[in-house]
Amino acid sequence: MVEVGGSIPSAPISMKFQRDTTYMGKQNNEVVLLKIDGELKDLDTVYSKESLVEEVNSQSEEALHIYKHSCAHLMAQAVVELFPDIQYGVGPALDNGFYYDFLSPRPFTPEDLEEISKRMKQSIKQNIKIQHLTWNKQQALDYFLSKNQHLKVELINEKVEGDEVSVYKQGDFVDLCRGPHLPNVSYLKYFKLLSVAAAYWKGDETNHSMQRIYGVVFPTPEQLDDHLRFLKEAQARDHRKLGKELDLFSIEEDIGAGLVLWYPKGGIIRHEIQQFWYDEHLKGGYQLVFSPHIARSNLWNTSGHNDFYKENMFTPIEFDNTDYQLKPMNCPFHIVMFKSRNRSYKDMPIRWAELGTVYRYERSGVLHGLMRVRGFTQDDAHIFCTPDQLEEEVGRLINFSLRLLRTFGFMELDIYLSTRPEKFVGETEDWELATNALENSLKANGVNYSIDPGEGVFYGPKIDIKVKDVLKRAWQCTTIQVDFNLPKRFNLKYSDDQGKIRQPIMLHRALLGSLERFFGVLIEHYGGFFPVWLSPVQVKVIPITDRNSDYAKSIYENLISNSIRTELEERNEGVGKKIRDAELQKIPYLIIVGDDEEKDKTIALRLHKKGDQGKRKLDDFIEKVKKIIREKEFNYEI
Ligand SMILES: [Zn+2]
Ligand SMILES: [Zn+2]
Repeated sequence: MVEVGGSIPSAPISMKFQRDTTYMGKQNNEVVLLKIDGELKDLDTVYSKESLVEEVNSQSEEALHIYKHSCAHLMAQAVVELFPDIQYGVGPALDNGFYYDFLSPRPFTPEDLEEISKRMKQSIKQNIKIQHLTWNKQQALDYFLSKNQHLKVELINEKVEGDEVSVYKQGDFVDLCRGPHLPNVSYLKYFKLLSVAAAYWKGDETNHSMQRIYGVVFPTPEQLDDHLRFLKEAQARDHRKLGKELDLFSIEEDIGAGLVLWYPKGGIIRHEIQQFWYDEHLKGGYQLVFSPHIARSNLWNTSGHNDFYKENMFTPIEFDNTDYQLKPMNCPFHIVMFKSRNRSYKDMPIRWAELGTVYRYERSGVLHGLMRVRGFTQDDAHIFCTPDQLEEEVGRLINFSLRLLRTFGFMELDIYLSTRPEKFVGETEDWELATNALENSLKANGVNYSIDPGEGVFYGPKIDIKVKDVLKRAWQCTTIQVDFNLPKRFNLKYSDDQGKIRQPIMLHRALLGSLERFFGVLIEHYGGFFPVWLSPVQVKVIPITDRNSDYAKSIYENLISNSIRTELEERNEGVGKKIRDAELQKIPYLIIVGDDEEKDKTIALRLHKKGDQGKRKLDDFIEKVKKIIREKEFNYEI
């Protein structure tokens, strides 16, 4: 999953000591929890003196999780106190905050959130203690029934095994919870309620529609401020907002959820990405292939997708008494192509690349702009090789991926090697061989990586590369996966140098991930102000008055004939407004021409974000821009 949120200081201070009964140390917001024999517990937990007790500092990641969860309870308390006819559902901590779901007779408004915040602050001022209690099941059922909290009754009946129910009480408010929690609500001063959204009870569309309130909380005011600044910056860069403002793409109800329309300005960026991608693949020894969007259901039975991938596939389309299905992946097409003739070790490695458009069913609740869609184009390739070619191929892939990602401006990358999961297909020795090959390639190429033990796919180990954007958010792009499953299912073969029949090794890989998602990441990384080679409009020519429009037009024609994407401003507006509008479109270069420039055959140059640059010669400008585009430079100064 994608990580969202500010950085969290790690490294808890952990002090090992032995003590009798309860913790007597610091309670000054620094130590907020205990770890007793390795388990996170409330600060006032009674323990035996044989126990190993560690202090958990408020700055640790474990503590932050408890802050969030405790704040969710505090919010629920405020909501229940303000709106007595509301039912409270569940309120978990998230990576980037917390939420609580409420069954409310009406949607919450921004004013409600303010009221709720006020109420929370009152409780914080009153230093209300958070107490852990153990009730028996009947006591808990009676309590929640008496409060008309039927969702809680449902949860107790569903979740509680045995007769003991763990609850937390603060003031008159009681909630089901295993804990642990902060000692007191006064620890939760630095919170902010952010937004409200509709959500289904237990995520099931046939259940009640709930009101979900999101919030964040931190141990210090500085952390809260940092995070709110981060959210503001992320909001300004939101690709859905910029996609509209810059006329790049949209997703329309008429077309369907998760299906993307690329407008001309997004289209030209996609074209540039694709062109670069094709060129680099041809230079890298790949061959290009193309395959259709649907295939017979039988193919997906053989590949196993109709089994292990069923819930992500669209229902079959029937014609000529045969079922066909939209492809969720390109792999089986390339496999059938591999199988279409006898292959020998001399043919290998085979590297087949395709910008293949696939369709995957995703629940509507998880769809998100370009980041999570139902139809997208993978920058896919499959490599069929012999076991002794594997290491070199992976090495090539790592270098290829790093070069590509850096060209797009992603210099900070996190690389992960995922090893064998508990459930897997294939032989242990093959897994070892492949995992070693992946690891050796990483080492040989001198890249830093971490190991994700057991996080490989069931069919083979993999390398994942995540890019960090300007806000330090990590986005998964590259994946390089060894597959022991499909070559076996399709009975792939080649003859080795002894004439023996063997099974090739198959690698799946996508470097950018998908064009849609990568575009979303690019938009947010650059905040819509792309490097010149990707800018939909590279230059805008603005005449100061009508008198200068012929001169402006001749400059425009000149730039166009040099393959520089140019727009000519022809509106009858003041020059100030023309410049402001061009700035809003984040166009790197503005050429402004008036009588002066026309007289001495020059241009006045203005750079986005850098302002007026003075007069230039047009030919000189053209040569420099062409070089910046050709070399995909980030520095656009002339
Ligand atoms: Zn709780
Ligand atoms: Zn594949």
